[in-house]
Amino acid sequence: MIVINDDCINCDMCVPECPVEAIDMGSEHFEINQSLCVECEGYYDQPSCYAVCPVDAVDITSD
Ligand code: SF4
Ligand code: SF4
Repeated sequence: MIVINDDCINCDMCVPECPVEAIDMGSEHFEINQSLCVECEGYYDQPSCYAVCPVDAVDITSD
C-alpha cells in the first residue's frame, strides 16, 4: 500500500506523475485514492509518487 503522510507540503509534484490519477487533495494534504492506486504496476519500476516526492512524504507499507 502506498500512502502520503503528514510531511506532505502540498507541492503538487506527484499528481501529474500518477498514471491512474489516484492522487487528490485531501482535508490537509494530498492523499492517494486506494481504490484507484495500482502501485504503478505495469507503468513504472517503482511507485512514481514515491520517486518524485522531494520531502519523502510517500510511504510504502507492507499492507
Ligand atoms: S503508486 Fe503509482 S498509481 Fe499509486 S498513487 Fe502513486 S503514482 Fe499513482
Ligand atoms: S510530491 Fe510529496 S510533498 Fe508534493 S504533494 Fe506529493 S506527497 Fe506531497
